[in-house]
Amino acid sequence: MHAAATTVIVGASVAGVRAAAALRHNDPHHRIILVDGENEEPYDKPPLSKAVLSHTDLPSPHLTDHIGQNIDYRKGTPAVAVDTAASTLSLGDGSVIRYDNAILATGSAPRHLSVLDGIPGVHYLRTFADAAALRNTLLHRPRVIVVGGGFIGAEVASSARERGLDVIIIEAGPRMAARVLPEPVSHALASLHVRHGVTVRCGTTVLGATYDPGRRELELALADGDTIVGDVVVVGIGTTPCTDWAADSVLPIRNGFACGPDLRVNGTSNVYAIGDVARWFNPRYGDEMRVEHWTNAREHAAVAAHNIVHPHAPRHASTVPFVWSDQHGTRIQHVGDPDLTAVDIDAVELSHSTRVFTYSRGGTTVGATGFNAQGALAKIRKQLVDQRAPSLDRANTHH
Ligand code: NAP
Repeated sequence: MHAAATTVIVGASVAGVRAAAALRHNDPHHRIILVDGENEEPYDKPPLSKAVLSHTDLPSPHLTDHIGQNIDYRKGTPAVAVDTAASTLSLGDGSVIRYDNAILATGSAPRHLSVLDGIPGVHYLRTFADAAALRNTLLHRPRVIVVGGGFIGAEVASSARERGLDVIIIEAGPRMAARVLPEPVSHALASLHVRHGVTVRCGTTVLGATYDPGRRELELALADGDTIVGDVVVVGIGTTPCTDWAADSVLPIRNGFACGPDLRVNGTSNVYAIGDVARWFNPRYGDEMRVEHWTNAREHAAVAAHNIVHPHAPRHASTVPFVWSDQHGTRIQHVGDPDLTAVDIDAVELSHSTRVFTYSRGGTTVGATGFNAQGALAKIRKQLVDQRAPSLDRANTHH
C-alpha cells in the first residue's frame, strides 16, 4: 500500500480551513497539515467588521467545526520559506515539513497609512484580536473617524452607528467603494450612510495627525485644508496579498501568487494558491484577477482540493465574483464581472429600501448590485454562473 499523500496548507484563513475540510471530504486518507502564524483557533472573517463590533455580547466566529476530522493544525507557527525544488516548507519554529502538495492561503493584510504610524488610537482590522481591540475602544470612545470608504470602512461605520457613535468617513476617491461599484451605486451607498447619520467626505485624505494625551483625542489634518477631531481612527484603505514570507522562493509573485486556471502556481506542479493571495487566470473572463471576497475563498478551496485528489480530471476556477455586506440594516449584494467600465446600468427601485442595479454589455447581463433584493440577486447570480464560460484556449496556452 502507498503511504498517504501529504498536503500542507499555509494559512488557517477562510480559504485554508475550507481547503482542509474539502481535502478531508475528498480523501479520507490524505495527511493534512494546516499551519498558521496566529495563536488562535481558526475563525471566520465576516463578523469581524460587523457583529464583533456592534453586538453587546462578543460573538465567537470560530471555524473549528468546519476544519474537518483528523487535521494536524499547527497554530503560532508562521511559514517563513518554501523550497519548491525540495518540496519543503519551513516554519518559524525551525521545523521543516516535506509535502506532496502545498496550498498557499495566506490572505491579505491592511495597507498602512504611514502618516498615522505611531499615533495612539489608530486601528486596522484584519484579525480577531484587532476586532476585539477595536470593539473595546468603541465601548468608550464616542467620535469615530473612518479613513477609507470601501467595504471595511462602510461596515465599521455602520457598526459604530449601531452603537450610537458619531462617525465620519474620509474617502480619498471621488465616491465610496469606487473600486467595486459603479457611480450610481456608490451614490446610493453614500446616501444610505448619510440617512443613518454618517458624515461622508469624499475627495480628501489625511495628511497628518497629532494626539493630545490629556484629552485623549486625535486631530487629523486633511488634504482639503480642514482639520477634524476624533477619539478613535479606523483605517481601511485596501489590502496587499501576504506573499513576503515566500519572497526568496522561485514562485512568481505579481500582486499575489500568479496561478493558472486550475490554481496551480505558474511554474510548479504541486503548489496551489487560493483566496485573496491568488492572482489567477479566470477563464470565464479571459483575464487574470485577484478577488478578496469570502465566496471566492470557498470556491477556490474546493477547486484546489479537487485538483489535488483528482489530478487527471482538473477543474478550472471560473468563479463569478460575489460579495455581500450588511450596512445599517440593509443587505448589499454585488455579483458579476469585476470590470464594470463601459456597461449599461439599469436601476429598478422596488421600494425606498429595495433596489436592483443591473449591468449589461451588448445586451448581455454581466453583473448586478442589490439593496435588500436577495431574491433578484440570487436569480441573476445563477444566470451568470450558468452562462457558458468563454473558450479556454487562452487559458490553456497561458503559461
Ligand atoms: P477597498 O475596498 O479597496 O477600499 C478602500 C478605500 O479606501 C478605497 O475606496 C480607496 O480609494 C480608499 N483609500 C485609499 N487610500 C486612502 C487614503 N489615503 N485616504 C482615504 N481613503 C483612501 O479596501 P477595504 O475596505 O480596506 O477592504 C479590504 C478588502 O476586504 C476589500 O477587498 C474588501 O472587498 C474586503 N472586504 C469585504 C467585505 C465583505 O465581503 N463584506 C467586508 C470587508 C472587507 P481609492 O480606490 O481611490 O484608492
